[in-house]
Amino acid sequence: MTTFSTISPIFDVDTIRQAFPILGRMVKDKPLVYLDNAATSQKPLGVINAIHDYYTGYNANIHRGIHSLAEEATAAYEVTRHAVKQFIGAAAAEEIIFTRGTTEGINLVAYTWGRQNINAGDEIIISGMEHHSNIVPWQILCEEKNAVLKVIPVTEDGELSLMAYQNLLTDKTKLVSIVQVSNALGTVNPVKEMIAAAHHVGALVLVDGAQSAVHLDIDVQDLDCDFFAFSGHKVYGPTGVGVLYGKKKILENMPVFQGGGEMIKEVTFEHTTYNELPYKYEAGTPNIADTIALKSALDFINTIGKTKIRKHEAGLLAYATEQLETIPGLAIIGKAREKASLVSFVIKGTHPQDIGILLDNQGIAVRTGHHCCQPLMKRFEIPGTVRASFALYNTFEEVDKLITGLHKTIKMLS
Ligand code: PMP
Repeated sequence: MTTFSTISPIFDVDTIRQAFPILGRMVKDKPLVYLDNAATSQKPLGVINAIHDYYTGYNANIHRGIHSLAEEATAAYEVTRHAVKQFIGAAAAEEIIFTRGTTEGINLVAYTWGRQNINAGDEIIISGMEHHSNIVPWQILCEEKNAVLKVIPVTEDGELSLMAYQNLLTDKTKLVSIVQVSNALGTVNPVKEMIAAAHHVGALVLVDGAQSAVHLDIDVQDLDCDFFAFSGHKVYGPTGVGVLYGKKKILENMPVFQGGGEMIKEVTFEHTTYNELPYKYEAGTPNIADTIALKSALDFINTIGKTKIRKHEAGLLAYATEQLETIPGLAIIGKAREKASLVSFVIKGTHPQDIGILLDNQGIAVRTGHHCCQPLMKRFEIPGTVRASFALYNTFEEVDKLITGLHKTIKMLS
């Protein structure tokens, strides 16, 4: 078997791996091979330490206290907001709203902008490769408002049909909500062009950046998207924190989401006035520790550089694809011309779940199932796939282990 492991790496993967303590552990007496990064990435020491430092050094509630701990915690929390602004190229820090994750960001838009602006007969366009979190909130809204949900079809290669998209856009289209990188196929969608086309008919666009934020350079001003949502835990940050970006003008005119502390200016029993952006959308005590630690994750990515990360991951993807294609009976689901760092596949005569279990017995963690994309699985007439998704700390040797592991697995299942 050819191996790329002798080729000099784009960066020193061994040193990078040392920043991720979990990568040193054993699973079923084998060294862990973690290839489930699209579900959640592992966390570098900087992130883990930031959480520890907050709880041991300056745990306090934010924005309210005048004591030193509260001031330190507030400052650190707001520093992350500025780091996120830089990370996605937003024009202003007020456009960055902290959420629990992508799911909450999308729901926030559906429950606020959606309820204010979607009326009977209006149309919302999503695509056939959306995660359930970018389907169900719009379905709920459309049912409530008697609006129409339209779906851009997915081609056999796992791309969006842009011709079909153009035909779906009408003067009734009020919103397009699309994924930038598919978590099930790896497809990178041409969202910039799609956004321009939507704006042409007067529709707003939400970009689901759950999978793209970690791989692609994100510039929300260049994309000209109206909303962009992503999750901390997929960018080497903690779970329980995410980001919703929205254009300031749009956010200012949207109604409030949750009511409570922090989101108000003045409350009487008769009437309440609301806080300014972004606090208007951050009711209650937020996830302070994890938000502070998110900055360490972004610093980690910035220090290495997304260009280098992408190069390394593209190498892993190309090598894995080439090797997988040599396995008899294996079919890759999703052969888009532009893909991010994951590969989904099925193997004739086997169930994805059995493959996942037998790979786990060899210490190899992959994802199996429908990947929260049931309509997409239906489109390809499969129950699910096996998905290997790569991060900057994965190695070509690990791809070799996956391939060897699959050969063993197939033998056991036949
Ligand atoms: N969209 C996509 C494309 C995703 O991959 C995911 C997570 N698998 C989500 C949305 C939802 O993200 P979260 O569970 O972090 O809210």
